[in-house]
Amino acid sequence: MKLTVIGSGDAFCSGGALHSCNFVEHAGGRILLECGTGVLAGLKRNGISPEAVDAVVVSHLHGDHFGGIPFLFLEYLYGQRRQRPLTIIGPPTTGPRSSALYAALYSELQGVELPFRIDYVEMSGGSRTQAAGFDIESFLVPHNAEPFSLGYSLTSPEGTILFSGDSSWTEEFVARSEGIDLFLCECCTLEPGPPMHTSYHDLLGNRARLGCKRLVVTHLGEDVRRIQESAFERAYDGMVIDIA
Ligand SMILES: [Zn+2]
Repeated sequence: MKLTVIGSGDAFCSGGALHSCNFVEHAGGRILLECGTGVLAGLKRNGISPEAVDAVVVSHLHGDHFGGIPFLFLEYLYGQRRQRPLTIIGPPTTGPRSSALYAALYSELQGVELPFRIDYVEMSGGSRTQAAGFDIESFLVPHNAEPFSLGYSLTSPEGTILFSGDSSWTEEFVARSEGIDLFLCECCTLEPGPPMHTSYHDLLGNRARLGCKRLVVTHLGEDVRRIQESAFERAYDGMVIDIA
């Protein structure tokens, strides 16, 4: 099982990093975990064909997390033409919000039928589903997004990843990180601020309570990027994380 960080940036593309996006692959399939606006550039820079994506999982409906979906559609319409179905997993209204975004960006394509079926799967706190050979479980996290924001556990026979989505610090991270292979946690700011994001100091204060085998921080803001000797392993665009 392998995770490639496609985009490690926050909403402001701090440090020049792309919006949130990760490509997770194992023997049973491949998913995009988040689909920020840089999805096509990021996949292609890393030599990953967009056609390889079996399913898309988004944590919430902010543009830096789902804004790349229309560009995937465009690629599958005019680039690597897709015929097999695409599963898109996210909070309620992911389907209509994605369609509305696509319509806003390419209004003249509204009469052009996409050559593939899209299966939207709506998740809420405690939902479970399967896609691309992964068992996927969602949980509610505190972040100011409509309708709400989700974190995920992705489990395959090869390992388990916990993903925070965008979230302020929550005890869910402690409860769910015990014994897992990788915790990919957002770390947007240095100091705690409004209850939107996890800060570096939130993680410092709680690191000993996290039972994960490996912690990597992502969704990195400028101040977190400037730390000379980070206590945490920082994601970067193109980083490959092998999960044994
Ligand atoms: Zn974000």
